[in-house]
Amino acid sequence: MTTKVRVRFAPSPTGNLHIGGARTALFNYLFARHEKGNFVLRIEDTDRARSTKEAVENILDSLRWLGLDWDEGPGKGGDFGPYYQMERLETYKSYAHELLKQGKAYFCYCSPEELAERKKEALQGGYPPGYNRKCRNLSPEERAEKEREGKEKVIRFRTSDAGTTEINDLVRGKVQFENILLEDFVLIRSSGIPTFIFANVIDDNLMNITHIIRGDEHLSNTPRQILLYQALGFSLPSFGHLSMILGSDRKKLSKRTGATSLDWYRQKGYLPQALVNYLSLLGWGTSESQELFSSVEEIIRKFSLEAVSKNPAIFDIQKLDWMNGQYIKRLGIEELTRLVEPYLKEKNLLRGDEDKEWLKKVVALEQERIKTLSQITEYADFFFLSEITYDEKAVRKVLRKEGVSRILIAYRDKLKDLEPFTVETVESVARKIIADLEIKGGALIHPTRVALTGRTVGPGLFELMALLGREVTIKRLDKIINMLD
Ligand code: GLU
Ligand code: ZN
Repeated sequence: MTTKVRVRFAPSPTGNLHIGGARTALFNYLFARHEKGNFVLRIEDTDRARSTKEAVENILDSLRWLGLDWDEGPGKGGDFGPYYQMERLETYKSYAHELLKQGKAYFCYCSPEELAERKKEALQGGYPPGYNRKCRNLSPEERAEKEREGKEKVIRFRTSDAGTTEINDLVRGKVQFENILLEDFVLIRSSGIPTFIFANVIDDNLMNITHIIRGDEHLSNTPRQILLYQALGFSLPSFGHLSMILGSDRKKLSKRTGATSLDWYRQKGYLPQALVNYLSLLGWGTSESQELFSSVEEIIRKFSLEAVSKNPAIFDIQKLDWMNGQYIKRLGIEELTRLVEPYLKEKNLLRGDEDKEWLKKVVALEQERIKTLSQITEYADFFFLSEITYDEKAVRKVLRKEGVSRILIAYRDKLKDLEPFTVETVESVARKIIADLEIKGGALIHPTRVALTGRTVGPGLFELMALLGREVTIKRLDKIINMLD
């Protein structure tokens, strides 16, 4: 019998979900769904100074928005709860005491000040700065003495002095660590709260986690955790450490090379489906290097850990923009309109009494062009504003030219009583003027576009004219004609 795959995403809620965390959660999710296993969400909130409720909410909300629904965890329950580590303190304590009893852990009474002082000396003297194991072999009398003094204590793990610990990492292959380099790390702090490294092992075991898929930054924790598994008599799960995500400058992804928080992408109007598609390719790919997937189900079907690369993944925002544009094109106009409405409202472009059918046509006209939902406000503002602004360069180069005024006057005069005012009729009138005045199409189209939209690029001129309507079109043409006078 093969055991059922169980994976988890175990964020520390010290800040909002970032791109790296989202990628880790996604790979766990894809693997779980592919293997028809379970995806567990566990909140590792034992860092009391840095954990916040807001961060927990943000992480849950972001995962839901991405569509990474978990089978067990906050809001869901499950057979292995509670899923917040702060609700599991007694469990960690009992395992720590078991280790104490077996001599695999010991009380350390060194104060933070003493430790800092010793570290300083070690660095100055060129010794390893780790904990010097001072309390490892305290006699019962020495210990009783410290207890009498009421000294605060932590529980430390007794690491091995010899040998190597080897990981057979699913992504990185064989990695070896010298045990002697591992210090006697803390399991339980003086506050009674466990360290991440300890609670994480206990929970992964108690929650029957089979595969630990997490970021590369945890690779150095793994040998220590393996020693813990052995000391506790737990069977080892498989480990897979995902490569770093680098910015376009090949340095660690930072605010400078691309936003790191998922909120930013959400606010800009990236679609969750597009982000999922993009993030899935940060370290994974099909043998055909497929870029666009029809659905997350297709990604799930094709996903495998074997195909995850150990090379750093490069975060390329231009590619994400392109991909998001592709996903926007796939949307039905009804849905896209619903999605862009909040952006238009926020910029006070939408009053709320606009005709729904008209609005859908405006959105349809921009659908091919926008790469993010928020771009609708830059590209389509002229449909909504009563006073548009004009790009200075466009005015200089396109409007302030010999003969422009004459052409615009001719066009305006024909449009004035044009009935009906449609894409076809405004175009055929334009074609006629172009022929009569023996000018090139652009000589009419370019200045008309600048007069009506304030800029030189945009959707099809006749389409946008029909949507602006006669009144606005004439008003804007009049204004420019007067200005050019
Ligand atoms: N709480 C750890 C973190 O957020 C989880 C590490 C792990 O996945 O094992 O980095
Ligand atoms: Zn000590």
